[in-house]
Amino acid sequence: MTLEEVQRLAQEALTPNYSRLPVAFVRGYGTRLWDTEGKEYLDFLTGIAVCGLGHCHPKLTAAIQHQASMLWHTSNLFHNPLQAKLAKRLSDLTGGYKCFFCNSGAEANEAALKLARKIGNEKLGGKWEIIAAIDSFHGRTYGALSVTGQPKYHHGFEPLLPGVKFVPFGDAEAVEEAITDKTCAVILEPIQGESGVRVPPDDYLPRVAEICRERGVLLILDEVQTGMGRTGKLFAFQHYAIQPDIFTLAKSIAGGFPMGAMLVKPEWAEVLQPGTHASTFGGNYLACAAALAFLDVMEEEKVLENVQQMGSYLMAKLKQLDAPIKEVRGKGLMVAVEFTEPIAPKVRDACLKAEPIGLVVNAIGDYILRFLPPLTVTAEEIDQAIEILQRAIAAV
Ligand SMILES: *Cc1c(COP(=O)(O)O)cnc(C)c1O
Repeated sequence: MTLEEVQRLAQEALTPNYSRLPVAFVRGYGTRLWDTEGKEYLDFLTGIAVCGLGHCHPKLTAAIQHQASMLWHTSNLFHNPLQAKLAKRLSDLTGGYKCFFCNSGAEANEAALKLARKIGNEKLGGKWEIIAAIDSFHGRTYGALSVTGQPKYHHGFEPLLPGVKFVPFGDAEAVEEAITDKTCAVILEPIQGESGVRVPPDDYLPRVAEICRERGVLLILDEVQTGMGRTGKLFAFQHYAIQPDIFTLAKSIAGGFPMGAMLVKPEWAEVLQPGTHASTFGGNYLACAAALAFLDVMEEEKVLENVQQMGSYLMAKLKQLDAPIKEVRGKGLMVAVEFTEPIAPKVRDACLKAEPIGLVVNAIGDYILRFLPPLTVTAEEIDQAIEILQRAIAAV
């Protein structure tokens, strides 16, 4: 199919809820993508932090191919060896958290919110209010949307879940002031991804964790974007000496195969007795096979070290750009450039159109470009991306 044919079908038959860029990819390998016309791109977005090991990593492809010929799905009415094995791996990596598997970030956050309410109602003496951050993003289902602090996503969908209070991100005292005797949980992203890679002060999460502990409030961390190595640790909370009561994963957990997970401290896990929550597809064989292979590659290829090194390298290179830059920020390979002028969408478009090789990056609003390359990205690929980006900025 040509791009025009794809666009015509999409126009005819898809709901118009996405504004798509005029390109359709048909193949990917590592950091590279190819479109319907055969043009090559460097992918510094990875499907929004989803393909953490790049596209079609041979180990992941082999794991899925093998599992696809064995067994796909049996439901959670039965035991599942791969799901049990994956849960144990994640549990060992977190010092004993217990896992619930689902299929997306929003679903993982739904599970977290439902669990927090149940703990609040049954164990904390009838608490049910939730505190969330302004400019947060937690997903599009009703619970997740209700704690998403961006009114533009709420419009037309009200009424939302009651009992949610929003406080400025990065201000621990604001969290403390917002807590009442009805507050059951605080939900935060360690770094706000969708609103522009907003990194809080270093003492923010430790201080919020301390306040939550003192006040008997649960801390939920949404690691859907920051988790699975993106920031240079497997989970972003491991940068700080803290342990959230609950945290959520999705995006890169299975390297590009749809999967979500909620992890909870063992002392709260018993609240989820049989029948309290469920997901038909959650933790199916294909997703678990991909997630196990993802963890294998993370260890075998020392991917976290690469994230730390290449993250610093990318940020240093971005700071050297000849461009109207206000700030370069991020952690690991979750990085953004904020311009002093509203050129981000134009730069993104020029990168995409660059010849002979395009560059895929994400614009957030008019001022911010976001970079989420594969965790396996190399210095040569970063050099090549920076060269394309510099030309795009000069042209704009
Ligand atoms: C992407 C994202 C979500 C939503 O995940 P979906 O899989 O789209 O439901 C939730 N929280 C954060 C922090 C995200 O980045």
